[in-house]
Amino acid sequence: MTEVLVAGGTVVTVDDENTIYEDGAVLVADDEIRDVGPTAELESKYDADETVDASGRVVIPGLINLHVHSGFIRGLAEDLPVWEWLVEHVDPTHRALRREDARAAYELCYAEMAKAGITCTLDMYRYMEEAAEVVDDYGLRAVLSPYVADRDGFEYFPSVQDNVDLVERHHDTADGRVKVWFGLEHIEYCTEAAYRRVADLAAEYGVGIHTHGEESPKKAQELTDKYGMRPIEVFEDWGILSPKTVVAHCVWLTNREIEVLAETDTSVAHCPTSNEKLASGVAPVPKLLNHGVPVGLGTDGIKENNRLDVIQEMKNAALLQKVHRLDARAIPGEQALRMATMGGARALGLDDEIGSIEAGKQADLVLLDFQQPHLSPHFGAENVVPNLVHAAMPSDVETVFVAGDRVVDDGDFRSGDQDAIIENYDEKAKALVERRDNEEWA
Ligand SMILES: [Zn+2]
Repeated sequence: MTEVLVAGGTVVTVDDENTIYEDGAVLVADDEIRDVGPTAELESKYDADETVDASGRVVIPGLINLHVHSGFIRGLAEDLPVWEWLVEHVDPTHRALRREDARAAYELCYAEMAKAGITCTLDMYRYMEEAAEVVDDYGLRAVLSPYVADRDGFEYFPSVQDNVDLVERHHDTADGRVKVWFGLEHIEYCTEAAYRRVADLAAEYGVGIHTHGEESPKKAQELTDKYGMRPIEVFEDWGILSPKTVVAHCVWLTNREIEVLAETDTSVAHCPTSNEKLASGVAPVPKLLNHGVPVGLGTDGIKENNRLDVIQEMKNAALLQKVHRLDARAIPGEQALRMATMGGARALGLDDEIGSIEAGKQADLVLLDFQQPHLSPHFGAENVVPNLVHAAMPSDVETVFVAGDRVVDDGDFRSGDQDAIIENYDEKAKALVERRDNEEWA
């Protein structure tokens, strides 16, 4: 067994009491957190093999990105509302996507997220066998939920059977770091039969379901007119809501829909930056939290964000509610941080394993260098969380542990060659866009 003592930092545990140790330490034993507490206490109790000096650093649990699509067209599909943007840019790019492109996207997006302190991701994309391999190679943690679609015109998306194959081959692999769920793109892409079959299969395999709720008010109304009930009520009717279901966005909800989410213990992936950029609206997050609905934070993809950065999502989640409700107390820093860590962990059913710095959990830790002008002054527990949420940046992330292994060390991505990843991705992106724009699609 190898013991590493991360010592002398400000440890923000996100435990039930929001405990912060100002001169704190974490003892990592192999892949687990063995102990957390004051540095002096842990130094006297343990004789670790290695000590990591965390002075001037803030230690937080690994961030969880509860909704992302790996992909390509960052900065190439701008200034459009969600449904125009999907039809004009996103779907045509999907048609042209090949397996080797998807792999390059996973390599780049997972490297970007690791460097931003994201240790666990709920990704919805295609050719996800490649994702399973990249997550394993890079030493990260992910829940994979493919973009299943079965309506006419979306034959290039994976089928329910493809998703079953992925579950059978990759669920609970890489020492438990890779999980596979069922993914359903959206009601406009999937039939009622697909939702019902996935509900049965998810129960049979004991895995979760990830899908999109409504972003656009116009689409929410169209679906209500079509089905005679609100979109979340349609999901309930089709049997997919459960404690193992994560619905992304949920911007436009009636009180009844919020009650349905609460009654079924279904989780929401709130994506504030994406909702702002696509002019979707403001999700009723304080109301969801008051009803006990688990809420985590998602970046959504690089095409709608344009950064895979959960620190930014914490800030935007807080600011969006404050300005929308004209209430400066809406979403305090502690709540934003909790959504980005424990909220995501609970949504994924992994709250016994990740989401906080507590003995017995997996050693997923992020050290941020707070010896920076924009993170000063240092008043310890008094201002560390507000500064983390409102002032920190991915470039402040110095070291990232996943299951006790360092995937980022001193700011460097350790699991792959960053320059080669970027070069390959750039090449694949250019060829993909050219193919998309020049080929005739049947
Ligand atoms: Zn999405």
